[in-house]
Amino acid sequence: MKGFAMLGIGNVGWIEKNKPFAKAFDAIVRPIAVAPCTSDIHTAFEGAIGDRKNMILGHEAIGEIVEVGSEVKDFKVGDKVIVPAITPDWRSIAVQQGFPQHSNGMLAGWKFSNFKDGVFAEFFHVNDADMNLAHLPKEISLEQAVMLVDMVTTGFHGVELADIQFGSTVVVIGIGPVGLMAVAGSKLRGAGRIIAVGSRPICVQVAKSYGATDIVNYKEGDIVRQVMELTNGMGADRVIIAGGNSNSLSNAIKMVRPGGAVSNINYFGEGETLPVPRLEWGSGMAHKSIRGGLCPGGRLRMENLSNLVKYNRLDPSKLVTHVFHGFDNFEKALMLMKDKPKDLIKPVVILD
Ligand code: NDP
Ligand code: ZN
Repeated sequence: MKGFAMLGIGNVGWIEKNKPFAKAFDAIVRPIAVAPCTSDIHTAFEGAIGDRKNMILGHEAIGEIVEVGSEVKDFKVGDKVIVPAITPDWRSIAVQQGFPQHSNGMLAGWKFSNFKDGVFAEFFHVNDADMNLAHLPKEISLEQAVMLVDMVTTGFHGVELADIQFGSTVVVIGIGPVGLMAVAGSKLRGAGRIIAVGSRPICVQVAKSYGATDIVNYKEGDIVRQVMELTNGMGADRVIIAGGNSNSLSNAIKMVRPGGAVSNINYFGEGETLPVPRLEWGSGMAHKSIRGGLCPGGRLRMENLSNLVKYNRLDPSKLVTHVFHGFDNFEKALMLMKDKPKDLIKPVVILD
């Protein structure tokens, strides 16, 4: 089969590989809609997860089942399925600890385009199909569904980690697709004021439509100063980091009030350490909590998120600015994600 792969750090291209096969609990899926992720860019061009040779990229897909293992009960050939970016090993101690994302090792629930070939291929392998796949409801479009598997679950996880309360003042640093879903999730969780930090007009416009009440442009000066001014020196109750640079954590700690929470879903790609500003952290005594996490995957998460779309609580298709048709467009879509032109939030490739 054909797949679009990371050949080595900084190099991508088409390769031929053997079609994967399903063991007893697994499924083989043919993608029908895929999307590239900023994490594919970190992986392929920045070596974020180390060197990988000839590893097929992509971890965001909706697909059709072409093969199931002998023990798979709830899915059959021909079913259309939502495939979460994170597909944990459900028989692992980390699951009993409450963190399936880290089943069998830190971040090891993230398998596609990390520990095994990803979804930019004619076929891909899904472990533990009954626990990881969800049926695609007929009321949900492919564009909406493919946003659930990573963008929605990640942005919403930022909201969960931040523990947003009714009426909270929330800052979301970064309003690419992940941050935009953190904005939408904050609104759903009852935030009062939502201050979104970004610059591109299309992201600003979509942030407002998802519930941002204020916009801070990081290109127009220090974001800590801007947030402190907007909040009359009080700071925010919660800060969700969904973009920015290696100062984002430090900025978030500075702009959150004592007793508040900082949640991170961003990938920090530089430096041995990340600075914590001592004074603004109350010399360690400000009760400012810091949490960060990989998005939850698995079947129930996908079923719950698809309910939000099915019952009109959320329309993630506003993230989709570019739609391509056909396999050959994987590269074009990936490169858009790398170059981030002004009019881009997220590209999707539909495989008719
Ligand atoms: P984008 O690159 O599309 O968005 C980044 C955002 O950060 C943009 O709004 C950008 O502004 C803003 N930004 C850039 N520089 C600064 C700065 N100096 N200060 C403040 N804001 C800034 O990324 P995505 O939304 O696709 O992904 C966000 C992060 O989430 C990535 O690091 C990705 O790897 C990670 N991720 C994490 C997952 C998880 O499970 N935790 C899963 C998926 C992704 P603008 O462009 O408007 O100028
Ligand atoms: Zn991703």
